[in-house]
Amino acid sequence: MSETLLEVQHLKKYFPIRKGLWNKTRGYVKAVDDISFSVRRGETFGLVGESGCGKSTTGRSILRLIEPSEGKVIFEGREITGLPDEAMRKQRRDMQIVFQDPFSSLDPRHSVQRILEEPLIVHGIKSRKERQQRIEKLIDVVGLTRTHLHRYPHQFSGGQRQRIGIARALTLQPKLIVADEPVSALDVSIQSQVINLLQDLQNEFRLTYIFIAHDLSVVKHICDRVAVMYLGRIVEIANKHQLYDMPQHPYTQALLSAVPEPDPDLKRQRIILQGEVPSPANAPVGCAFHTRCPKAMQVCTEVRPQLLDTGGGHMTACHLYTPASSGME
Ligand code: SF4
Repeated sequence: MSETLLEVQHLKKYFPIRKGLWNKTRGYVKAVDDISFSVRRGETFGLVGESGCGKSTTGRSILRLIEPSEGKVIFEGREITGLPDEAMRKQRRDMQIVFQDPFSSLDPRHSVQRILEEPLIVHGIKSRKERQQRIEKLIDVVGLTRTHLHRYPHQFSGGQRQRIGIARALTLQPKLIVADEPVSALDVSIQSQVINLLQDLQNEFRLTYIFIAHDLSVVKHICDRVAVMYLGRIVEIANKHQLYDMPQHPYTQALLSAVPEPDPDLKRQRIILQGEVPSPANAPVGCAFHTRCPKAMQVCTEVRPQLLDTGGGHMTACHLYTPASSGME
């Protein structure tokens, strides 16, 4: 398998909760709570989970669009957490993001030409001719035409706007793109067009994606490996076949049981989870899922399970799979 492009080690992002007259810190929302994973060059790595599980915060922390509280992000062997602003700005040429809502992420006052040209100017592409050549190539590869360059974001449909967002992410020829729910805001009929475009671009430009989504059907289609998040933690990482055919973590099993299955013979028994997702400001001690887990044991209320390889690179954070609980060696 190909080399590691990105490594995330013990990443945390805590947001302080400030209250009172003196704005004192009274606690923390643990949006991302000590997660580690690596992404291989050329793969599509999925980050999935319900809304509020920390997947978007993870994506933004990796790019340092928000500063991580702790932990390391290592890109092509170089630690980028802690890089000074100017060095980080240069590093971002290689690491771009596509946002969920292409409308709010595109400046409505700027034409598509300007939206695509700006990153090139900021990153020092001085030749106007070179900039124009790149812009025209990009607008072609995302399936728009050159006449579109002179229009403004409000003159496009949602799918077209996402194509512009993707073109903008590609302007600096990045190696990694964090795609943060890139199709969730689009009609189902348009979603597959944008997914196909992302796959074509991956092949053409040898891109690596971190694909953030809550829709497990979309993730199954596009991702090579998938990490499942719950309350700021990763509970399972596996390649998509392992994950979809043999989910190990009870939370993953519940999530997948809710995915519509077109083949009635393969239909899973729906697992209905009891209770609400606890607040990330007050996550349960031990396994964060124990308040809703149908298989919870005493140890789950006391000890946080580690993410361990259960075989073949399939990693699970659950006491059902730790040696002390299951008798595994
Ligand atoms: Fe359920 Fe315990 Fe496993 Fe957590 S560690 S998922 S509570 S069995």
